[in-house]
Amino acid sequence: MSEPASTPPLRCTECENPMDSPIACSTCGALSQMPADSFDSYELFGIKREYDIDPRALHHKYLCLSRVIHPDLASGEAGQQRSQSLNLSAELNRAYDTLRDPVARAEYMLSLAGGPKSSENKTVPQELLGQVLGFREEIEDARASGDTAALQAVQQQLLGRRETALTRIAELARGLETGDLQNRIRLREQLNTVKYWNNLLDQIPPTGLAGRRG
Ligand SMILES: [Zn+2]
Repeated sequence: MSEPASTPPLRCTECENPMDSPIACSTCGALSQMPADSFDSYELFGIKREYDIDPRALHHKYLCLSRVIHPDLASGEAGQQRSQSLNLSAELNRAYDTLRDPVARAEYMLSLAGGPKSSENKTVPQELLGQVLGFREEIEDARASGDTAALQAVQQQLLGRRETALTRIAELARGLETGDLQNRIRLREQLNTVKYWNNLLDQIPPTGLAGRRG
């Protein structure tokens, strides 16, 4: 298999050692002088643009890169170098938050693939709205009567629904590389759907579940 175009072998212009990420050299600490926002989140981490990523490896890279690009406050770096460190740090943090979260990652991959955005397409599967209304009613009733067992039961069901949506999101995000428009639209629908489950889960008070009378 040939190397994808997005990951050419990189060498540091200062020390000529290979670089894991285009933004900083972990050998000599040289920082990229490109604008911090000129890299996409995958490029920043020097990883392939795929849905499936190893969270532990990502975290490890995040820590290493953070250490390399962190502005050295003690050395009194020149202003420009310091501001580049801060810009790269901010971009790295943003990219990390995006890639480590499965939904944010799928949303990001969809945007890289050309959308649609949530503002452009709010469709959800036809049966969803009826289900959401039913759950909302159950939650309201259970909260009104202080029925923590009922709340727990609804919560379990909602977690199951969310899990189903997340599984579907993963499948569709893996299929993005086919470039199929229907695939992108279905992914948009599932990303819209998971927001409904999250909103309903937010309506279940954690204290209501903890304070069960024995
Ligand atoms: Zn270097």
